[in-house]
Amino acid sequence: MHTELTRRDVLLGAGAFALKPWSFWKQTDASKPVGWAILGLGYYATAQIMPAFAGSDRSKIVALISGHPEKLSRFGDQYNIPTGSRYSYETMDEIRHNPDIDVVYVITPPATHPEFVVRAAKAGKHVTSEKPMAPTVADCETMIRACRKAGRLLQVGYRCHYEAHNIRAIQAMRKKELGKLISIRSDHGFNIGTGQWRTQRALAGGGSMMDIGIYSLNALRYLMGEEPTSVQAKITTPANDPRFVDVEDTVEFNLDFPSFKGALGAGGYSWRQGKNQYEVVGEKGTLRGDPATPYNGHRLLINGQEVSVASNNQFNAQVEHMSSCIRDHKRVLTPGEEGLRDIRIIQAIYESGRTGKRVSLA
Ligand code: NAD
Repeated sequence: MHTELTRRDVLLGAGAFALKPWSFWKQTDASKPVGWAILGLGYYATAQIMPAFAGSDRSKIVALISGHPEKLSRFGDQYNIPTGSRYSYETMDEIRHNPDIDVVYVITPPATHPEFVVRAAKAGKHVTSEKPMAPTVADCETMIRACRKAGRLLQVGYRCHYEAHNIRAIQAMRKKELGKLISIRSDHGFNIGTGQWRTQRALAGGGSMMDIGIYSLNALRYLMGEEPTSVQAKITTPANDPRFVDVEDTVEFNLDFPSFKGALGAGGYSWRQGKNQYEVVGEKGTLRGDPATPYNGHRLLINGQEVSVASNNQFNAQVEHMSSCIRDHKRVLTPGEEGLRDIRIIQAIYESGRTGKRVSLA
């Protein structure tokens, strides 16, 4: 018997976070939607995130920040953004004087996230940063510190935590519907093209692991509901492929979890094949997401049967969750600390890939 999720479950991440009152910022006027500034007007911002504001009760795009005047003009007109609320990267610090902006959503290449997050926090704004949070643990810590110092919330754009099928899968895991675990595995990949920032280490911070592999890692962590204690990784990168001159291709790893010692948590990723799935095998049953973390068209199967889950708009749910946390002074379901945990493990994965040794995460 699989119960349906309520809208509240979806919005609030099935109650997976504790509420705590915050007192650092002035209560947002509850009669007005929370005001969002979108920073970076590339594919993900303009094709997925910005359209998801349509129909939002509590979130509104009120400003844009971009390095391209033409995009500021085009998307500014499309979203009815006043010209005074269209900023370049050079002028973005002026947002401190714009009371309509409550939160800045940073949607640029990962290596640029730290600078933009810190500047937004210093301007007194809450921040959402896209994944991966940043190239290094030190960067993530800087971002967390800046938001704490400013008394502002920091969310990482882990949309899957707000997506109904993934929330249902998490519920099945927490309720131990599959019995004692036998194995858990997640694989993500796609066939990447050439000439992108994703294959430039200076902007991406790494290769497939940072970009698409993080979905497998994050899914293993949210499905298990606990933190891994060690990792062993193998990295395979083809020679003479122009896409992989600067960064890695395939990363496979296994994780030990406290309740799952000696068993396998694995993720295999590649930029040469399309894959998007996770599979959990327990003594009482199986759970399979296939596809598990796409933009839409999710399928969740428990014991081979497709589970009926009311689909939601995960982008909208992620944004609305942040707005409700800002308005109601609540903790964010996917805060900076969540992004930092993944980056810490990714650094250990790279170390293990380099040395061939298992790396402790204790
Ligand atoms: P994109 O290349 O389409 O857009 C990136 C934007 O950043 C562009 O507008 C570009 O002009 C700008 N930009 C590029 N280099 C810059 C620099 N050095 N400084 C400032 N701005 C720069 O990429 P995208 O696919 O939109 O990815 C952007 C971010 O969103 C990345 O962090 C990526 O990992 C993340 N993303 C997340 C998801 C998701 O499902 N959560 C999906 C896609 C991308």
